[in-house]
Amino acid sequence: MYHRNIVDVTRFKLSLPCDVEHVSSFRFLSRIRYTKWTMSDLKQKSDSYWKEKLTLEQYKTLREKGTDIPFTGSLLRNKESGIYTCAACGTPLFASDTKFDSGSGWPSFSDVLEKGNIELKEDHTGGMNRTEVVCATCGGHLGHVFNDGPTSTGQRYCINGTALNFKSRGNT
Ligand SMILES: [Zn+2]
Repeated sequence: MYHRNIVDVTRFKLSLPCDVEHVSSFRFLSRIRYTKWTMSDLKQKSDSYWKEKLTLEQYKTLREKGTDIPFTGSLLRNKESGIYTCAACGTPLFASDTKFDSGSGWPSFSDVLEKGNIELKEDHTGGMNRTEVVCATCGGHLGHVFNDGPTSTGQRYCINGTALNFKSRGNT
């Protein structure tokens, strides 16, 4: 059986035109390089770039540090299994199994999906001392994090729904 599998793979490769494999891997690598360039460049993008890319509501939240009106937006009560991504750049930010109902009116999470995907910044606006949560890829404002979370992490990531997109488990 093992031997037959090897033969099958070899036949498959031989049936391809000789340059196909080379061309597709070249394209693949080019795409990765392009993606990396785009990611590192996103923080330098102009206001007009984001105005074109985002809805007015998303722009106000992500680029002007706006705050959603509490108890609005479809993601607040979303209980589907999946991943919450940055609405501006698609970076995966939060998993559905860390989402909880904080009663605050904003989508709340007990932890981030990957530490490197967000940045935390001191925020003293409005006479308050808060910790701002920012997308590490595009610099977009997401919300704030507080140390009064009800779960073992003790964290409450209070995130604007307009700053997020949702990918259900079936679509990932
Ligand atoms: Zn982003």
